[in-house]
Amino acid sequence: MKIVLNTNDATVSERYIEALVLLYFPCEKFGKGSSDKCLDILISREKDSIYGKALLTFDGKKTEKQMKEYLPEYSGAVKCFCGKMIISLLNERTGYIPPWGIMTGVKPARFALGLMIDEGLAPPQVCEALEKRYLVSPEKAALAVEVAEFDKKVLNRYKERDYSLYIGIPFCPGRCRYCSFVSYATPQLKALLPEYTDALLKEVSMLSETARSLNLKLKSVYIGGGTPTVLEEKQLEKLLEMLNNNFELNQNVEFTCEAGRPDTINKKKLELLKKYGVGRISVNTQTTNDSILSSVGRGHTFSDYIKAYHMAEELGFSVNTDLIAGLPGESTESFRKSVDDVVSLLPGNITVHAFSLKKSSEYTCEGRRFDISDDKIADMISYSYKKITDSGYFPYYIYRQKNTEGNFENTGYTRDEFSAGLYNVYMMEGFHTVLAAGAGAATKLVSKDLSNTRKIYNPKYPYEYLRAADYIYKKKENIIRFYAEQYN
Ligand code: SF4
Repeated sequence: MKIVLNTNDATVSERYIEALVLLYFPCEKFGKGSSDKCLDILISREKDSIYGKALLTFDGKKTEKQMKEYLPEYSGAVKCFCGKMIISLLNERTGYIPPWGIMTGVKPARFALGLMIDEGLAPPQVCEALEKRYLVSPEKAALAVEVAEFDKKVLNRYKERDYSLYIGIPFCPGRCRYCSFVSYATPQLKALLPEYTDALLKEVSMLSETARSLNLKLKSVYIGGGTPTVLEEKQLEKLLEMLNNNFELNQNVEFTCEAGRPDTINKKKLELLKKYGVGRISVNTQTTNDSILSSVGRGHTFSDYIKAYHMAEELGFSVNTDLIAGLPGESTESFRKSVDDVVSLLPGNITVHAFSLKKSSEYTCEGRRFDISDDKIADMISYSYKKITDSGYFPYYIYRQKNTEGNFENTGYTRDEFSAGLYNVYMMEGFHTVLAAGAGAATKLVSKDLSNTRKIYNPKYPYEYLRAADYIYKKKENIIRFYAEQYN
């Protein structure tokens, strides 16, 4: 589609318009050349009012919308005006309003928290602002505010120089068909694991020295992937031992390890995790329907998940389980049963993801279209919210992704504050620095007043990471420089 934007207002960009169009046409591509699909937009301001016109040419049909309003006083009002005009136009064409309205960002709760802090709005006023300014549905506005209130509690405990540590093991026992992460799964690639572990340990050691020299205080450690429990027992122990020797892993430090694929878990590995202080693990099933598990390439059954789950529970771990709403072939009934099955186990956390199409997964955008009028996914998401919250959980972090079926969100639920995986909140909401090691890992440095962030990306693939031995020294310098600039 071609976007033609005519405005002097710097807050409205073609990228924003594209993000709105993607809510309706999830796999649309954008270009400058002549196109039979075109969206022309004009925005002009006159003293205290604003005028806009949008014309959509699509499938040989033209639809036009014009709007004029007094310009409200909140910041970003012109952008909101433009968003509302486009949504109104696309709604006329399709009969659909996205659940998050004109909000295109990935962090709705952080946004709601911003309204509480920056504009001093109380929770009901934040709901009202989200609904009126951004056309967010009342349910999603309430969800964003609920999570923002939890965020606020976490933020109130923030201390200068807090940080978290992320360790990436991008290897898996086999590749799930919907996976978009870098995760090496073939025998040749997995042969890199011993060399990879050694390189990773060097980087972790550098991060430990750097954190000590900057007097940083560790709040959480997260070993993610891939599937870290793909490591053999000796490799896993080497990593855990090294972490214990280099960081002060006491009971105040949340320590999580993803053990997502039940086919990588055995009692010995779980005992090692326990011995070295891991308190939380993820054991995921995504769906409890065996035929879907097989068709998406998960490599395990529901009963494998149950066995791994009970093993973890007996050893005293707080367990998180992930589910995906809208996996190809999954019916509403089947997903409802998956939610019921997982809730009946009462894990500490349940995370419900909305299925999304990704370039690097087998389920790509190519040749596919979501049917935005299909309310199957809406049923799955609202059923999971109701069932999980009625069972005593509350949502504590949310985030959105592009090309997600129905434009829904991913939500982490917890049974209580102490079972919450706070790493997710720190990282998602940018509440403190995350130092990250491993291929594809991104270090996110956060300034003292949380207003500035800087990212340092590691080489994406394990083979590149192994060849880039000296980059870690440059990374150390960059971290130190950031703290010198932002914390003194
Ligand atoms: S377990 Fe996770 S990281 Fe590994 S292949 Fe499946 S989706 Fe990807």
